[in-house]
Amino acid sequence: MLIAGNWKMYKGPVEAAAFCRALRELDFGGCDVVVCPPFVSLAAAVAALAGTEIAVAAQNVHWATEGAFTGEVSAPMLHELGVYGAIVGHSERRQLFGETDETVARRVRAALDHHLGVIACVGETDAEREAGETEAVLTRQVEAIAAAAPERDELVIAYEPVWAIGTGKTATPELAQEAHAWIKSLLPVPVLYGGSVKPENAAALAAQPDIDGALVGGASLELESFASLCREAAGA
Ligand code: PEP
Repeated sequence: MLIAGNWKMYKGPVEAAAFCRALRELDFGGCDVVVCPPFVSLAAAVAALAGTEIAVAAQNVHWATEGAFTGEVSAPMLHELGVYGAIVGHSERRQLFGETDETVARRVRAALDHHLGVIACVGETDAEREAGETEAVLTRQVEAIAAAAPERDELVIAYEPVWAIGTGKTATPELAQEAHAWIKSLLPVPVLYGGSVKPENAAALAAQPDIDGALVGGASLELESFASLCREAAGA
């Protein structure tokens, strides 16, 4: 069971270091744990978690090795920092920052080329689900990622229905399972569920046969909720 905490734009370097030092003392029930701080806090997190099994990943990565790309960070730069990998194609990037299937694919390819693991996010909006387009949207998004990563090693998909992210509206375990099974029929890699996962719903989600873990936003920002969510998921 892999549980990744997406901190979004929370926790600067000082807070991240203190949080990671505290994480070292917690019981995660045997889950594989990844934390994803903002770029500026990655080095602090890597240092604070050195010698532990807890991995650190970035929230994005650019496709070029270097160049005139103001505000971007490349895969070799992340690798040099000692991070394990990167989230790619989060719905907040797709919706707020113009990320497309094409740019997601380029980021996936670059990360894999530079020995970074990838958590690639897919998921339908409320309107797309209402219009009966969920499978078509997931197919388009997953196929773009699959084409960029034919070897599939070090690739994990996160199914994050956009209507469930940060809204408190979690997909039912059955609905999530259906989407995960569809994704795995297209691309057989581990699939995490994301969207308002909390300690209270983690066990039921993790009990589904095609749910291999979770990508957690809000509940990953607080120590006890994150650790108890992991223990709940591991116990399933
Ligand atoms: C996320 O940011 O990937 C996420 C799933 O957020 P939340 O858990 O807060 O819905």
